[in-house]
Amino acid sequence: MRRRQLFACLASLAFAGRTGAAAGSVGKITPLRLSDAEWKKRLTPFQYRVLRKEATEASHTSALNLEKRPGVYQCAGCDLPLFTSDAKYDSGTGWPSFFRAVRGAVNTKTDYAMIFPRTEYHCARCEGHQGHLFTDGPAPTGKRYCNNGVALNFVAAG
Ligand SMILES: [Zn+2]
Repeated sequence: MRRRQLFACLASLAFAGRTGAAAGSVGKITPLRLSDAEWKKRLTPFQYRVLRKEATEASHTSALNLEKRPGVYQCAGCDLPLFTSDAKYDSGTGWPSFFRAVRGAVNTKTDYAMIFPRTEYHCARCEGHQGHLFTDGPAPTGKRYCNNGVALNFVAAG
């Protein structure tokens, strides 16, 4: 995402927050497809393992657990805004948790990496793995987006 687009996006998200409307929407998304070699160049080895290979970071290791400032959480692979700070909450799991994603910003699939099926979600633009979606979250959605902190970049508002 180019800088101007990012600021336009942030402005609309901030506006949605002020009016109390649902979190912003990302609008039409142009997919970002890179080769494995290109991803390796663009990401740190840890980001690569999580975003491209669906690894999971150890709990209680991300600095974003403690992040409480207003702002936007972007995909570390392509900068798409995935979550806003007003949807973040402390789930007690040790991973950054959100009860709502920015509309259209993440897609889900069923993952059978464990014995039981889980709902995996990933960035709608670059398909980078972000985390897993559970149904034990707080009101108003009842959802818990359990996110790898390393897969996100936080951009403070203002
Ligand atoms: Zn992405």
